[in-house]
Amino acid sequence: MALPRTTALGVFAAAALSAAAVLYVWPNTSPTNERRPDGAGRVRGAWQQFDTLEAGQTLLSLLQKHGLTAGEASAALHAATAIDPRHIPAGLVVGFVGQRQGDARLAASKVSVQLSPERTLHLTRRPNGPWTARDERVEWALDTVVARGVVHSTLYDALDEGAGKTLPSKASRTELAWAIADIFEYRIDMSRELHDGDRVRVAFVRARSALGATRVKAVLAAGVERGGKELQAFRYTPKGAGRAAFFDAAGRSLKAAFLKAPLKFNHISSVFGPRKHPILGEWRAHKGTDYAAAAGAPVRTVGDGVVAFVGARTGYGNCVDVRHANGYVTRYAHLRGFAPGIKTGARVKMERTIGFVGMTGLATAPHLHFEVLVAGVQRDPRVALAAKTGMPLAAADRMPFSVAQRLEAAQLERPSGDGVALRN
Ligand SMILES: [Zn+2]
Repeated sequence: MALPRTTALGVFAAAALSAAAVLYVWPNTSPTNERRPDGAGRVRGAWQQFDTLEAGQTLLSLLQKHGLTAGEASAALHAATAIDPRHIPAGLVVGFVGQRQGDARLAASKVSVQLSPERTLHLTRRPNGPWTARDERVEWALDTVVARGVVHSTLYDALDEGAGKTLPSKASRTELAWAIADIFEYRIDMSRELHDGDRVRVAFVRARSALGATRVKAVLAAGVERGGKELQAFRYTPKGAGRAAFFDAAGRSLKAAFLKAPLKFNHISSVFGPRKHPILGEWRAHKGTDYAAAAGAPVRTVGDGVVAFVGARTGYGNCVDVRHANGYVTRYAHLRGFAPGIKTGARVKMERTIGFVGMTGLATAPHLHFEVLVAGVQRDPRVALAAKTGMPLAAADRMPFSVAQRLEAAQLERPSGDGVALRN
């Protein structure tokens, strides 16, 4: 299927799509609104503008900003039965078209609201008539593609370079990096365990809109090669599970008793190397791992356990210790605050939010200080939390898994780029 060349509107749409999961698409209208797409003639005296709903702003007031009276704006929203104006997220992109009279702009007579990547609501007012609503579903074509990247600095950079042709929008390449990091989050801390020359490859279902916007629909298989050894992941939905998970080539779950990092990959802004430690004085000698992240980012416990300490500690600031079944203690420090229900003795499940990134104690910038203690001694989390194997699939799943795994492994071997179209 030949896609139209990416237009300025397409670029805008792709950026808006992946950045905020909303985009504005105005079918059959050129970006400038000067000409009809068929070239039949000029549309004189029309104006077109995009606007973004700000935090705390109502859709009603946004409509009024573009010339509608309070009565017209509420009539327009009344026609929009598909939306609940009280639950419209900030960041929503709304398009407006109206007529001109001389130099004066008349009130908008077309309003377009992108409710989701697949769905646009068009509100139109006929001359002297009521507002009508049309709910439009955008068609996305699906295909499977392969992308490969070589790590020089980060996973983002590897995919930015390796998946540039497959996913033209940078935001969708970022989305792909997050998906890969999530798949391997029990095995590889992508923020600190990748090195120059490591390789990543991924077979995934890509969605493309007629305007050239791209999205990552689902990862089918992925491989991360470190030091010449590749860890592979294959998508499979075990019988009765209801949702897909990832397994290695032998059908063992990639899940393990511990997550490799106490922050989700998309919350980590960087990792401090030992020489760039933002800590003062003797604290510099500490043996933890520091993750830079925005203040307030949720911190999660890396495994099931019992909260052994909550409170302030010299140097560490606000700190939580979690004791795990194998006797290990994980420690999370410099927190801005604690999550509700986190008290000494509370049982916590892996991934439970226990607090929020801050800079309490001896910290000069917001970051999470993370430690693993074995018999009271700090150990390298990369070693202490390493998992070699996971739970094997049940006997009834082995045959169907091996069929799926072989198909997905073949996808992973295909050349990068060109897609194989899928029936939707
Ligand atoms: Zn630290």
